[in-house]
Amino acid sequence: MTNGSPSSKIASIPNAINALVAPLTTSVTTPAPAAPHSLPPSNPLPKFPKDDGFREDLRKRVDAYFAETGQSPRDLFRMYLKTAIILTWLIASYIFLAYHATHWYEAIPAAISLAMAMSAVGFSIQHDGGHNAYSKRNWVNRLAGMSLDLIGASSYLWKWKHGVYHHTYCNVEGADTDIDLGMLGRVSPHQRHRWWHRWQHIYLFPLYALTASRWHLWGDFKEALTGKMGPHPIPRPKGRHALLFWGAKITSIFTFLILPMLWRQSIWEVVLFYFVVTGIMGVIMTIVFQLAHCVQEADFPAAAPAGEHMDKSWAVPQVETTVNFARGNPFLSWWLGGLNFQIEHHLFPQICHIHYPAISKIVEQVCKEHGVRYTAHPTFWRGLVSHYRWLREMGRPPVSQTA
Ligand SMILES: [Zn+2]
Repeated sequence: MTNGSPSSKIASIPNAINALVAPLTTSVTTPAPAAPHSLPPSNPLPKFPKDDGFREDLRKRVDAYFAETGQSPRDLFRMYLKTAIILTWLIASYIFLAYHATHWYEAIPAAISLAMAMSAVGFSIQHDGGHNAYSKRNWVNRLAGMSLDLIGASSYLWKWKHGVYHHTYCNVEGADTDIDLGMLGRVSPHQRHRWWHRWQHIYLFPLYALTASRWHLWGDFKEALTGKMGPHPIPRPKGRHALLFWGAKITSIFTFLILPMLWRQSIWEVVLFYFVVTGIMGVIMTIVFQLAHCVQEADFPAAAPAGEHMDKSWAVPQVETTVNFARGNPFLSWWLGGLNFQIEHHLFPQICHIHYPAISKIVEQVCKEHGVRYTAHPTFWRGLVSHYRWLREMGRPPVSQTA
């Protein structure tokens, strides 16, 4: 467990991470993705062998797409327009629900609308901004990334959890924090089985509803104050990161809870609808991410022993641990910010998601040529069934424990 942490290593880890998640296309020249601080985890993280030509071929073919079409990978007018539409949708839903709705038949649709709008902010605006995929200007990306703070979760912690640990070590047990459900669930065959997991395909779905409120009111505070994210130590937010973290938490709690309570002069109504909205949002956001990585068709690589390399170069498991869904559904492709094209997102996190449907055809072809398994569920429903079955499968005691 102890690893020393020499200062040279402290500086080198984010560079290594940057190299891994750096844009595959030379068309995207700036800015470099940044870990928010430079402090390494104490546990040794897996290393990947050098590219065997697959990543280079992907880069060339996608570069050729941008050269032929003359399109820009980022700063798309459609993305700015989409942002305006989503933010208007969000503000209108919030104002109507918090200050105008007087009957349940007004409040329920408004709560669903607000949850969908908040999810759209996370899927489209924040996710692109956080990955520097929104614009070539750093400040635009930062602003877009901060929209996560607007909806109650911390963009600082997201950089570590999603940008570093999930994107670099997708589905690798002990490294990818997204597949760490603690004792509540088992989603990888390399995780320990507990007797209650046999019902996880039933009880996890309602628990997904608590994901967003947990970030907002508890989980983010715990991680920021303890400097611990799953098995990884992380730097506590300091300076402008601390200012943003605490400022956004106070503002969002005031906006979503205190202000509506003062206006309505009712605590229980506001608390009830707070949990309705965050519950719907939690289910939506968790399921969208689970459909990409926690399904029967996804790989769950075991972490290589300390100091050793993983079996395959970085880009290959990015494809094989990820599954697309509903690629032909225009509404989902718009609303989910291209997260139904997660294979393309994992390979090209710094390209605006609006390009994913076009890039998808290229990526699928290159995968075929290199013998890399590319999987896509034709519909959302097929992905959901596969997620349910995977939870059920992982909930059964492993053969070694039943023998
Ligand atoms: Zn991402």
